[in-house]
Amino acid sequence: MLPGVMMNRPLLVSNLIDYAAEVHPDGPIVSSTVEGGLHRYGYKQARARIARLANALIAGGIKPGDRVATLAWNGYRHFELYYAISGIGAVCHTINPRLSPEQFTYIVNHAEDQVLFFDTTFAPIVEKMAPSLKSLKHYVAMTDAEHMPALAGIGTVHCYETLLAAASERIVWPEFDENAAAALCYTSGTTGEPKGALYSHRSTVLHALFVLTGMGKGLGLGKSILPVVPMFHVNAWGLNYTAPLTGTGLVLPGPKLDGASLFDLMDLEHPYASWGVPTVWLGLMAEMKKRGRKPVGLSEAIIGGSAAPRAMIETLEKDYDIDVVHAWGMTEMSPIGSIGRLTLDEESRALEDRVTLKQTQGHRMFGVDFKIVAEDGKALPHDDTAQGELFVRGNSIVSGYFNNAGASARACDKDGWFGTGDVAKISPRGVLTIVDRTKDLVKSGGEWISSIDVENAALAHPGLANCAVIGVPHPKWHERPMLVAVKAAGADPSKAEILSLLETKLAKWQLPDDIVFVDSLPLGPTGKVSKRDLRAKFAEHKLPE
Ligand code: AMP
Repeated sequence: MLPGVMMNRPLLVSNLIDYAAEVHPDGPIVSSTVEGGLHRYGYKQARARIARLANALIAGGIKPGDRVATLAWNGYRHFELYYAISGIGAVCHTINPRLSPEQFTYIVNHAEDQVLFFDTTFAPIVEKMAPSLKSLKHYVAMTDAEHMPALAGIGTVHCYETLLAAASERIVWPEFDENAAAALCYTSGTTGEPKGALYSHRSTVLHALFVLTGMGKGLGLGKSILPVVPMFHVNAWGLNYTAPLTGTGLVLPGPKLDGASLFDLMDLEHPYASWGVPTVWLGLMAEMKKRGRKPVGLSEAIIGGSAAPRAMIETLEKDYDIDVVHAWGMTEMSPIGSIGRLTLDEESRALEDRVTLKQTQGHRMFGVDFKIVAEDGKALPHDDTAQGELFVRGNSIVSGYFNNAGASARACDKDGWFGTGDVAKISPRGVLTIVDRTKDLVKSGGEWISSIDVENAALAHPGLANCAVIGVPHPKWHERPMLVAVKAAGADPSKAEILSLLETKLAKWQLPDDIVFVDSLPLGPTGKVSKRDLRAKFAEHKLPE
């Protein structure tokens, strides 16, 4: 092999913000603040405050490799923390405030976090958790002197704005190996202890570039994006890194994530696109229905985290002329793995066809390789028919977990592919269809029933707002599907009505053995419907004969 004769400069997170500050100085970041009101500035001003924060961290004794934790909403101070912490070579550990107290304690102690930055909304959690958080040396409230919370039993709580005011605005970022860790996010730990995905500078910068190749159309000068996907979990799908590169503006919604608040903010700031999990879109769509229109300017919906239901895609496209892009990914993948952009030919097809295409999880993103394997470990063809466990490989995918030899040993197969735990099919064009999460498939007799398929069929009924299908133990079939459904406001569909609709869409053996109506579905820490909680709730459920 003949070596290339090119420079080899480290890919660092600090490159991203320096570039944005220089080339897209005014790229706007608008934040709905915890204190109330909107805060606005551009990437250049953000860079100046990031430098101050970085200097404050160094003055506070933070060293390269130290973990610095954040407990915060999507807002400009959280954005600054991302860059300041990683910029000096420390590791930005974002904590999901919806974790259980046990998980919270576990991850802070496991990460050995040195400092905790928190939005004042979370002061009560911090106060309660502090006695069990052993490694923390400093607490910083992300606010100004006027809004400092009083916390009992914690000693000195520093004030974010006071720290920044005392620090210099000049910094020359240190250069180091691009493989150094930049950020840390724990999986939500639906089974066992949460596991830490430790992203490197290299993986973070590459992921930002990979996302650009697939999401390109929705990004760019003059456009802005409202990420409802939280900065406290998988870096808001990398948007904090991708948006600045292109000068795309960010509209950060802060603590108010209900449909009405999101609608109002969109109406005011006109984001071109918004990114969120299906449950967030359900809330926003209920608001659109109420007001009889979409928010001004909203043109694109990026939906992922769990399967976007067919009825959701259809309504957004047909009633509101919003382009739906269905994406799939995992915490372990930084997180994006596939993006549902159609080909030009596909775009020109009739609505019905487009919706069917958009129901898939999209084509693989550049930088991510897919393979599906049978139970015996043999690779299956990418023919859009064969189904098997999905494995992935690429530079933005974990090779193991932070400080967890047991989980790391199980993460990848002998050829270094990461096992996703999803069952999927892949088309010759690399388009992914997630059949189900392995754990959520209903194993009935020798057959597998996709809970996603049954949910999609049921949600075609206008009388349902949301639903989930789980497997319930059955003496003969091992498991049978059961539909847990939430009625739409003002609707009162009967079980028989829903069953007769399902009969037109599913084979007889796929039909749920029972339908139960509930007021709401339990949500996990990342806002997705928690089938684990539902299974626990209905473990003893007696299916009708
Ligand atoms: P998390 O690591 O918490 O982001 O969860 C990752 C898992 O969410 C994946 O392995 C999938 O099971 C599921 N998931 C994410 N996006 C989608 C999608 N678009 N459709 C179906 N499942 C999805």
